[in-house]
Amino acid sequence: MIILRKDKLNLVEPDNEVMRAPPALYDFTNEGESAPGISTVLFERMKQLGGVGLSANQVGLDLRVFVMGLGETKIAVFNPEIIEYSDIEELFNEGCLSYPGIVLGIKRPIKIKATYQNETGQIIEQEFNGLTARIFQHEYDHMNGTDYTDRVSKFKLDYAKKKVEKCVIEGKVVDTDWDRMHTYYSKIYPNIIAQLEKEAGITAKT
Ligand SMILES: [Zn+2]
Repeated sequence: MIILRKDKLNLVEPDNEVMRAPPALYDFTNEGESAPGISTVLFERMKQLGGVGLSANQVGLDLRVFVMGLGETKIAVFNPEIIEYSDIEELFNEGCLSYPGIVLGIKRPIKIKATYQNETGQIIEQEFNGLTARIFQHEYDHMNGTDYTDRVSKFKLDYAKKKVEKCVIEGKVVDTDWDRMHTYYSKIYPNIIAQLEKEAGITAKT
């Protein structure tokens, strides 16, 4: 049995192939890390990172699994399919743990109906409204090898990145996880990061 530890679940780069292809179905008959085991470490890691949803492929696990929740309320979702969308849509600002600081206004249906398996393998059909419908659909994008940045124009995405760049230049902290922030920003803003490191005397751990 593989023993997953939450502190070993590191976020992968958004262009990593595990995030750019639909992950494999979770097989409940397979020996391996148990479903409750996977959902528990994912949920703990999600809370540690300060998110309200986390997909297995965001931390490098090629599994059609995500968790979501607020506080101690955990919803573990295995092998999801969205089967109905409401006609009414709503624009809402979304963030993603894989893109620290990037906030994008995304239009999505306010209500969905989905089927999935819970951590005991039981098939659930459930309606989600409001914030849970929002989070479900965001994570569901990850299950299809896409994400929220694919839902906006290049102009909108560049603008959001520029806003983050401004925060970095002004020294406003947009993420408390320096290691993660560094890995991400060093790719898109190498000069700024180098300058910040010099000023702050920070040497990034690689
Ligand atoms: Zn996300």
